[in-house]
Amino acid sequence: YGDPSQKIDYVFKVVLIGDSAVGKSQILARFARNEFSLDSKATIGVEFQTRTLVIEHKSVKAQIWDTAGQERYRAVTSAYYRGAVGAMLVYDITKRQTFDHIPRWLDELRGHADKNIVIILIGNKSDLENQRAVPTEDAKEFAQKEGLFFLETSALEATNVEAAFLTVLTEIFNIVN
Ligand code: GDP
Ligand code: MG
Repeated sequence: YGDPSQKIDYVFKVVLIGDSAVGKSQILARFARNEFSLDSKATIGVEFQTRTLVIEHKSVKAQIWDTAGQERYRAVTSAYYRGAVGAMLVYDITKRQTFDHIPRWLDELRGHADKNIVIILIGNKSDLENQRAVPTEDAKEFAQKEGLFFLETSALEATNVEAAFLTVLTEIFNIVN
């Protein structure tokens, strides 16, 4: 998970957004520390976590911001979005409402963030297939229409979490290079 003494070539700020309880903090915990907690209420809201990784021989420090309880509509402040070059728009595949709110989050994001921001739509909790309420096809179609990347993840099983971050970070990397 990164040698702290290495020199940093890039710092990319990425924001996590989406309804409460979709798994944003656990996705971040999985990516930044390879941890997962079923009772994440105990986690204290920190502003962001970082992890340094290597992309095409350059060291990239990913600075990932978590909303820490600001998920109420329009409660996320513009400071949160400031300087973000990537965004992960998360819903819960078992809660239809969290997917239905995605257009709002996207509007808010587009209203606050840089217009070249790289966005990935994430359907989290893919381990709960038997409780699925959002068909993969619906999300895929929405993402395609809006020009977003799309993946289903499980923070619990560590499925596609790394891939989701790599998708965003590599795309940002390619834009700045
Ligand atoms: P946040 O409010 O979006 O930050 O959501 P949290 O990360 O706090 O997660 C909310 C709840 O969902 C917690 O009980 C987590 O343990 C659980 N959770 C998060 N990700 C997953 C996942 O991939 N699968 C399952 N089954 N539960 C998850
Ligand atoms: Mg959280």
